[in-house]
Amino acid sequence: MQAIVFDKTRQLRLQDIPIPKLNSGDVLIQMELCGICASDLAALRGDVSDYSPPIVMGHELAGIVVESRHQDVKIGERVTVNPMLSCGKCYNCINDRDKYCDSIVGIGHDIDGGYAEYIRMPKHGVDTDKLIRVPDTIPPEELLFLEPLGCCLNAMHETLFDYTVAILGAGPIGLIFTQLLKRKGLSVYVFEPIPHRRFAAETVGADDCFAITQEDINNLIEITDGGVDTVVSSTTNNSSVISVAFELVRKGGCINFFGLSPEGETLHINLEEFHYTGHKLMASWAFSRASLEESRQYILEKTINFEPLLTDKYPLVQGLEAFDNAITHRGVKTVLFPQ
Ligand SMILES: [Zn+2]
Ligand SMILES: [Zn+2]
Repeated sequence: MQAIVFDKTRQLRLQDIPIPKLNSGDVLIQMELCGICASDLAALRGDVSDYSPPIVMGHELAGIVVESRHQDVKIGERVTVNPMLSCGKCYNCINDRDKYCDSIVGIGHDIDGGYAEYIRMPKHGVDTDKLIRVPDTIPPEELLFLEPLGCCLNAMHETLFDYTVAILGAGPIGLIFTQLLKRKGLSVYVFEPIPHRRFAAETVGADDCFAITQEDINNLIEITDGGVDTVVSSTTNNSSVISVAFELVRKGGCINFFGLSPEGETLHINLEEFHYTGHKLMASWAFSRASLEESRQYILEKTINFEPLLTDKYPLVQGLEAFDNAITHRGVKTVLFPQ
């Protein structure tokens, strides 16, 4: 089968590899669509280290079960995955914090993921409820967002909100946050340098969208009488983004550094200033089983408009161009489909 392999030199190669062989209890999924995630792009840049190449990346997937050696899984079911396979028994797993489990095996990180024609879900993953099934009326174009939406819902529960929020970055995550925050009735201001992404943010309901000039920043501080209550940074947290976040947040406000950071990026804090500004600094990442279940419900109920997010579809054989498209932010979400 065709697959895009991320190799040890951090290069991507389109390769012909064997269709995964199943052991007792395993399930074979034929891919329909797989979204390119910013974390995979960060792995290509060498900014994150939680990948074990050579590996087929891809964890935002939608597919159909075509072979099942598991008694609970039927052929023909439309599925996606909770890509964090964990032990299921430790303190973290019992308390729905699987991401902190010491024996995590990530689909698309440690075992082959969705940038291929087929993927294997191991028996252990099925037994620990990591195979997520939906009715086949749910289109793959929506199902592939189950994981990113689950990440956003997890962050929504963790973040402190009041009335006003600034979102930094109108990629797929920023556009999902915009919709979730508008549902909560908050005022949402989106900062994004790329015009077509600002347009998408307006389409999904942002109250106002700004490029990231000093004038824009001052403007919002004035509109909100001292800055926003909350900043959610859903972009790469480099030093310039971090300083924009601190400029925009009001005294006593909360900053959630949701996005990944370049390797080695640090944050220096003057503790006396920190004390008197009363800022609440935090980070949210990934999802819980509960937030993925909530995401599944949202998708069944069609709560989120994914249409402005899914801009570019590429066949797997043009996978390298697809990555180039994602890296240069020509669209919003780029997805791959096998032919
Ligand atoms: Zn992802
Ligand atoms: Zn565990």
